[in-house]
Amino acid sequence: MFNKILIANRGEIALRVHRACKELGIQTVAVHSTADTDSMHVKMADESVCIGPPATASSYLNITAIMAAAEITDTQAIHPGYGFLSENADFAEVVTASGLVFIGPQPETIRLLGDKVRARDAMIRAGVPVVPGSDGVVEHEEDALRVAREIGFPVIIKAVGGGGGRGMKVVHTDAAVVSAFSLARNEARQFFKNDAVYIEKYLAAPRHIEIQILADRYGNTVYLGERDCSLQRRHQKLLEESPSPAVTLLQRQTLGQLAAHAATTVGYHGVGTFEFLMDGDQFFFLEVNTRIQVEHPVTEMVTGVDLVKEQIRVAAGEKLRLRQEDIVLRGHAIECRINAEDPRSFLPSPGTITEYHPPGGIGVRIDSNAYTGYRIPPYYDSMIGKLIVHGSDRAEAIARMRRALDEYVVNGVATSIPLHQQILRDSDFCNGHYTLSFLEKFLQKSKKSPKT
Ligand code: ADP
Repeated sequence: MFNKILIANRGEIALRVHRACKELGIQTVAVHSTADTDSMHVKMADESVCIGPPATASSYLNITAIMAAAEITDTQAIHPGYGFLSENADFAEVVTASGLVFIGPQPETIRLLGDKVRARDAMIRAGVPVVPGSDGVVEHEEDALRVAREIGFPVIIKAVGGGGGRGMKVVHTDAAVVSAFSLARNEARQFFKNDAVYIEKYLAAPRHIEIQILADRYGNTVYLGERDCSLQRRHQKLLEESPSPAVTLLQRQTLGQLAAHAATTVGYHGVGTFEFLMDGDQFFFLEVNTRIQVEHPVTEMVTGVDLVKEQIRVAAGEKLRLRQEDIVLRGHAIECRINAEDPRSFLPSPGTITEYHPPGGIGVRIDSNAYTGYRIPPYYDSMIGKLIVHGSDRAEAIARMRRALDEYVVNGVATSIPLHQQILRDSDFCNGHYTLSFLEKFLQKSKKSPKT
């Protein structure tokens, strides 16, 4: 096992990784920008190194500065968290070449799965169903039009190197294909430095279902049930739950086995998430995220497995201690992402938290770096924490989440708490009847009647 790990991230996930390290008896090194000097992850870590000014390119994405911090602190491994450099194969390569351990899959696996077209191909070869779409990259407008007509409108044009819900354009008509195609390519070039795009059938109202997997270096892979992440705004997840109210035991087993098999065929190790769209009772592969996910706690709550500790153990070369039959889902978990943003306009609301009092009690978990007096910097994403609840069944989890949201005090900045309070009282949500199109309709409905 490692003696010391550098956590190349910030906010709640840096704290989450720190906590796992402490329980494993590992020393932690926090890195931070000048905007995060007072951040909880810096206060908690055993050591900390300032790696640059607020701009992410100069700090949390600055590979040279992070590697220098690792060297001066005599670190053995680097945990990248999520976002930032977590799915950057070049970073993983630099870490490995420096003789350190990158806590994640091999650079070539990250590279393969980070390219959505190559990932689709690999999944097709492994027998995983994919969303109907173009045969690889689409280079010209005429081809885009032909493919769109072949698979039938609506279609979605996606960046091969895309991520974070960006670089996607939904197209409904022949006439819109040409402009959307060049717009998608320009955006892809700008955001992902790769203008390659491909086309998929756009499914009108699917559910987003993802399977958590965990694999060691010796070909042992297990799946840890699914998460339902259908509650999204503009392709960004807001609330997640496990298990999904729509997935049957047989579907869970089939999809889980398929994901575990596909992971083994690409030589995957570490934690990973296979994302699918569920349309009726059909599942279509979307992509693999080669890192720990924001919503991993709902899986931890229903399985009792500490995913970050297991991730560190397999990165250290340990054999998986869990067999598939050891993984038993118990009860139901829901996570609400608490963002510092206006619950109606969704505009970020940076500033100082003047009063902070998190909820507690049975079955309540808070993963957050917030505290009274914490100044939320305007430079990074607006998530200030996650509220996760566990109940013996979905009804209890919903009641518990309502109670916990009502207890949560965050003053000084606007937050998404009121929005979650409304969602948790919506009858369709409570019945489990919701798809990716839920939130848009819900927001329109609540505009008309503020008391929905
Ligand atoms: P990213 O890597 O940016 O997260 P994904 O491919 O995982 O991109 O897609 C993110 C979200 O976009 C999905 O959860 C879903 O809401 C939507 N989406 C992607 N592809 C489709 C599709 N073919 N049909 C309908 N919605 C889609």
